[in-house]
Amino acid sequence: MAARILDGTKIAADIRAEVSAHVKELGSAGIRPGLAVVLVGHNPASEVYVRGKVKSSAEVGLYSEQHTPAETATTEELLALIADLNRRDEVDGILVQLPLPAHVDAKKVLLAVDPAKDVDGFHPMNVGYLSTQRPGLVPCTPAGVMEILKRSGIAVAGQDAVVIGRSDIVGKPVAMLLLNENSTVTVCHSKTRDLPEVCRRAEILVAAIGRAGMVTRDFVKPGATVIDVGINRIADRAEFDRLFAGNKKREEAFLAKGSTLVGDVHPEVAEVAGAITPVPGGVGPLTIAMLMANTVKAAMLRRGVGHPKLTRA
Ligand code: NDP
Repeated sequence: MAARILDGTKIAADIRAEVSAHVKELGSAGIRPGLAVVLVGHNPASEVYVRGKVKSSAEVGLYSEQHTPAETATTEELLALIADLNRRDEVDGILVQLPLPAHVDAKKVLLAVDPAKDVDGFHPMNVGYLSTQRPGLVPCTPAGVMEILKRSGIAVAGQDAVVIGRSDIVGKPVAMLLLNENSTVTVCHSKTRDLPEVCRRAEILVAAIGRAGMVTRDFVKPGATVIDVGINRIADRAEFDRLFAGNKKREEAFLAKGSTLVGDVHPEVAEVAGAITPVPGGVGPLTIAMLMANTVKAAMLRRGVGHPKLTRA
């Protein structure tokens, strides 16, 4: 039986509608959450992401502003900008779009962001809050993964979960969130022995690897929930055929564009999984929705305004 498709676009729209309602509520209390996005230089992919973040902020009613220092900006100049944003009360969230130019000390810049305004949840203080289950700001994509599971009614507590990938941005925080929700979690990486066998134990399998279609059907226990975080662009015809042979609709789009997006999970997995997120339209849309939610959460945490839904760890 074909897997149930977990519609990330719909879930993200629901979250944005909820955030929008919270923003209205806060507005009547005289609070307008604000997001500052810092985009250094001219990376075309980053420009697309930032445009999406600014547009989405306007749609949910957040105040937002964009800072675009030149490619040549120094670490010191960026630190001065961050210090200014940290100081300004109308800014609740600060997002530094990565990657930063190679000459910039990215770690130093990220560390300078006030943890209370760190809507990406990358600051070591927020990492610590997450691992000790205190209220804080949780990285957007991992938080989105949890929203997909919860809002799709997929049990997490007591389940065997396997996360492939251990990055600070996705793999580790996803594993921590699953652990906090009482899954039994295994984290895999490039040195894991017999990866397919380890993955086959999973009732929830999260792939955050960055390798097109690496997770094939032999990785998946029949009926498992598979969350595909990967976003990979493929332009190679042989690779396309390995993944999408016989899929006419995809082929037309591939030929028209010369490339297509694919996750870390091979499409054949939909034949064995119980539920699966598509790419595109799965985890991807949640990232911006959770950024919006995090900005509201930051505004509330900073002002000591509690909200049971937004302030849960
Ligand atoms: P990283 O490159 O930082 O981490 C990849 C992880 O996968 C590493 O831990 C690495 O192991 C592991 N890995 C690589 N190859 C293998 C292998 N052959 N077998 C087992 N493990 C392997 O990537 P990110 O975590 O930043 O991103 C992962 C994917 O998620 C990417 O496709 C990215 O585009 C996507 N992404 C999507 C987002 C969204 O909004 N949906 C947001 C962020 C990322 P090791 O540590 O040993 O090197």
